[in-house]
Amino acid sequence: MSKIIASAAIRGAHKIVERAEKKYEEALKKWGPNQEVGFPNTAYYLPVIYAMLGIPVQKISEMKPVLDRCRILLPPLVKEKVALPYLAPALDAGMATFFAEEIIESIRYLEAPNFYTKQEDPLPENIWLGAADDVIFRKRGVEFVDGTAPGFAAIVGAAPSPEVAKKIAIELQEKNLYIFMAAENEGKRFSQQLVEAGVQIGWPTRLVSFGPDITAAVFAMGFACRVAMAFGGIKPGDFRKILIYNKDRTFAFVMPLGFVTDEWYANAAGAINWGFPVIADTPIPQVLPTGICTYEHVVSNIPHDQIVQKAVEVRGLKVTVAKVPIPVAYGPAFEGERIRGEDIYLECGGGRTTAVELVTTKDMGEVEDGKIEVIGPDIKDVKAPAKLPLAILAEVAGRQMQEDFEPILERQIHHLINYAQGIMHIGQRDIAWVRVGKAAVEKGFTLRHLGDILHAKFHQDFGAIFDKVQVKIFTEDEKVKNVLEKAREAYHRRDARIEGMTDETEETFYSCTLCQSFAPTHVCIITPERTGLCGAYNWLDGKASFEINPTGPNQPVPKSEVIDPMLGQWKGVNDFVFKASRQKLEKYNAYSIMTDPMTSCGCFECIAAVLPMCNGIMTVNRDFPGMTPCGMKFTTLAGSVGGGSVTPGFVGHSKHYICSKKFIMAVGGIKRLVWMPKMLKEEIMDRLQKLSKEIGIPNFPEMIADETIGTTEGEILPFLTEKNHPALTMPSLF
Ligand code: SF4
Repeated sequence: MSKIIASAAIRGAHKIVERAEKKYEEALKKWGPNQEVGFPNTAYYLPVIYAMLGIPVQKISEMKPVLDRCRILLPPLVKEKVALPYLAPALDAGMATFFAEEIIESIRYLEAPNFYTKQEDPLPENIWLGAADDVIFRKRGVEFVDGTAPGFAAIVGAAPSPEVAKKIAIELQEKNLYIFMAAENEGKRFSQQLVEAGVQIGWPTRLVSFGPDITAAVFAMGFACRVAMAFGGIKPGDFRKILIYNKDRTFAFVMPLGFVTDEWYANAAGAINWGFPVIADTPIPQVLPTGICTYEHVVSNIPHDQIVQKAVEVRGLKVTVAKVPIPVAYGPAFEGERIRGEDIYLECGGGRTTAVELVTTKDMGEVEDGKIEVIGPDIKDVKAPAKLPLAILAEVAGRQMQEDFEPILERQIHHLINYAQGIMHIGQRDIAWVRVGKAAVEKGFTLRHLGDILHAKFHQDFGAIFDKVQVKIFTEDEKVKNVLEKAREAYHRRDARIEGMTDETEETFYSCTLCQSFAPTHVCIITPERTGLCGAYNWLDGKASFEINPTGPNQPVPKSEVIDPMLGQWKGVNDFVFKASRQKLEKYNAYSIMTDPMTSCGCFECIAAVLPMCNGIMTVNRDFPGMTPCGMKFTTLAGSVGGGSVTPGFVGHSKHYICSKKFIMAVGGIKRLVWMPKMLKEEIMDRLQKLSKEIGIPNFPEMIADETIGTTEGEILPFLTEKNHPALTMPSLF
């Protein structure tokens, strides 16, 4: 610990303990040893002393042993030339400070019974609330346990102005925190500033003006101790458990605003015992190594517009957003809703415009939680029926966040947006498709709300893996293209991580049942060589997703006995599919298009179909709008084959799977591919060329027909014959 901080904290503790001793002597003289003392209407006596020492102080005489303990705890003042380890003595000094402050404050109740108001709300003539009685404590303390209040900010001092105070308070309230206020800075107090700024303070608004002096900060610590004893069931005197309970369960921190006096340092050192870090606006020395607190102990010189974010980060507070703040109804019931023709106000993606989604990790300092930006025209700027390009970029940061988690968050965008009434979302990655209905726009829905949805739901569902998220929504062509480029690099990076792994080397595959909300019998089995149909989940993503959410849609599936290595059928997979498809499917084959192929949901990136005349197969990607040689466009194919059904001759798959060695291996693999759209061929060209060399036909990409050659079997057959396509000489598919 910093020598400067430790010296000041120990000096401050000495001053406060001396003040308590003086008060005690005066009180003893005035009222005698048997005079009752304590905070009003509580069964927890002086709660910090009771919690830490197990001593129920009820009479003046019972303060003496506590003061003796203070003297034992108080380390000698730090001498200039002596270098000592400072952390432990400073923490002891902090503990002695709180014992002494409870004695000072309890004697204040004797000396001035009306110093603190007895109300839950402050009175205009007296805003100081003092210690919470048990009625208030029960009502408010339970919120610290049921999650409605994650913790508190103990603010000492004052902001530079009432406006800044109001802004800080609102930001803290938005995080559902209580704000406990004490002490003054240059004659100003945070609670008085709030009143001046027209803010309603009191327990009901979670803005608790404990008292005007620094000693009132002890009421915050007493509150935390009572929560641990009352709701955590920890016995008084079991100080270790009480401190750990608070470190792990009460997300509290100290926020000194203004010049940090010795007494403030002493209180801050005390709070660190509870695992409550200090986030200051002045340039006091920092204590950055972790140890007692979850992360840093003291972080300083933080600008006022960043101080709440910083505090949330340093304390490791998980933000919870109780309600998705959008003007339309929200919930799974709206997931399957379709927005058609006349009802469309705005459409993005789906082949009409570019639409792309990307979740990317940033440094903590680069992300402002909850910041939503719409860059380009929003709904109010366009007239129905409108079309806009769209890029949704969610930037996340967190101490637990890993790059591996990005695709898992990204894949949630589909159903999270779909939950909004009047908004339709299909696809993912760079084949997203969003429709905003006229009814939603009438209710006030704008593109900004897409960001609000992601902010709220990411926190609600995935708060354990990240701390902050900001969302940028681009609707200008150039900017969308920039995001698209970055997104494609990220998709390639993610897909490349899986290269080299094979289905034979892994004993466990992963399931995905995320699409069961609209395709109830659909089950993706994700293997190292076969990504999920949507392309958004590979085997590593399935594994990471299971780690994040062990009861979620991605479960480990042990392969168990191999039933047919060519078809890609395993006993363990069959058993899983039987259960997960609600007994609708007894088996399926991972590498087949003809015999019991995998189910297809509705958000596959591509769909493959058999072309009987060519003795081969074609595949078409979602973003190709034209006709294909099987006589159907992608949309018609998706309509007839999707929904969780098994349709021999057709199978949904990802783009990445096309260049896998296991691609329809049961019928001869990639050599069967006779037609695909030009855009798709170009997109996968690098991997296609590599695979072509591996199968000994380096010019294979040139043998595959596309729409420039023809869109019927009759049109492409002469081309295939001329190119000597291998499919023509392979065993008949039927
Ligand atoms: S297509 Fe498959 S992998 Fe993708 S979200 Fe749906 S079930 Fe999961």
